[in-house]
Amino acid sequence: MLKRAERVRMYSISLEDARVRELISWYIRTLQKAIDTIWDNITWKYDIKNYKRRRHAKVKVPVIPKSSKFKRELRNELMKDNPYARHWVDAVIRTAYSIMDSWRKRYVKGKAKKCKPRVKRRFARCKVTLMKVDYGRKVIRITLRPYEYLEVSYANAWFSSRIKGYKVGEVILKDDKVLIPFKREEFYTVEDAIGWDCNELELTGFSPKIGFIHVDLRPLISARIVYQEKRRKAQEIDSKKLKSGKKLLEKYSHRERNKCRDIERKITIQLTRLFPNTMHGFERLNKENMIRRDKNKYKKLRKRAARVSWRNIVREIKQRAIVKEVNPKDTTKTCSRCGFKVKDLRGQVFRCPRCGLVIDRQKNASINIYLRMRGFPHSYEWWERFVKPLLNHELWVGVALRGRMPMIWSPMKGGLKAVKPKGLVDQRLLLPMKVYQT
Ligand SMILES: [Zn+2]
Repeated sequence: MLKRAERVRMYSISLEDARVRELISWYIRTLQKAIDTIWDNITWKYDIKNYKRRRHAKVKVPVIPKSSKFKRELRNELMKDNPYARHWVDAVIRTAYSIMDSWRKRYVKGKAKKCKPRVKRRFARCKVTLMKVDYGRKVIRITLRPYEYLEVSYANAWFSSRIKGYKVGEVILKDDKVLIPFKREEFYTVEDAIGWDCNELELTGFSPKIGFIHVDLRPLISARIVYQEKRRKAQEIDSKKLKSGKKLLEKYSHRERNKCRDIERKITIQLTRLFPNTMHGFERLNKENMIRRDKNKYKKLRKRAARVSWRNIVREIKQRAIVKEVNPKDTTKTCSRCGFKVKDLRGQVFRCPRCGLVIDRQKNASINIYLRMRGFPHSYEWWERFVKPLLNHELWVGVALRGRMPMIWSPMKGGLKAVKPKGLVDQRLLLPMKVYQT
């Protein structure tokens, strides 16, 4: 099976130019003006379709003006105060619409207030028509005014070797740098699929070719908790209006991000190397409510930390392999053999009252996620044929914090050979893990 995916890599080039600052000032001023005009022309209508379907109280939803007449008038209006090339006005209008559309989406979902979006950050998003890329010289020429150009070279950039075969997307100008997205279409042959269940201690995977895979996440989650705790303290200082609090907070946020992102990236790289040509199935993450319900403060903290990491890991894997996100509903509650939904699930072991299956809770969830990503229904025969013989096939994977080589630190009873990378494995990961008994 051949799958296509678009890869985007974002890199920045530092650039200080008074003309860029001026352009940005004009850009955000005009952008706000465009948003103001669109906002003033919004009409509010009853959402009849949703009213019937969801049966909630009558609510008016915003309709953003999109007629070509309106757009033309808006363009003419903005053009009056435009010292730059015409396409810059089009770039502004497009950005204004994307801001308004995303506000509308969040508003309808109840996630945004009924107040006009304000442009706070200084930036200017370019358009393809304003750019000319010389791939030989590795120079991007951006039109400011007719016959006045800004040249950005990425010829000697540190990331040169990482963007071979990539095309330049629409750049974003900032006061001190240029953000360049590099894009490429990639094709993957998919020969295997793994369904992953994310839990606080590990990622538990299931594949009918390998069996069960356990990826240890403990060092990552504890690193996150340490920083969250530090951040919380810094926040307390900040709320007492001490100047140092805010700086401290920034420092910790920055460190946390760097440190954890590094580990997450390593997990991802090692996983994609260990399982090449594989499609990875994850649950779509929208479990906010589930976390809020937890009364135990430490548990809540731990869950939140884990969530951030899962999201990042999925995002990183998406950059390197094919990911399929599935509906998370009842993946832990459903029996992976007969499909029965258990109402009150407690503890580490899943017991099915209908077919009598007794299996580790996380293993059960990973099989369910596998079934969902492949679009297979629950079937007793399939389970007995593909899962039963693999119940004791377990692959324990730890993260090598030094180096980029994959690491399996425990042998597996299946067909794969265990790799024993000496000196690559962090000793902390070699702590005995809980062995599940089913
Ligand atoms: Zn069952």
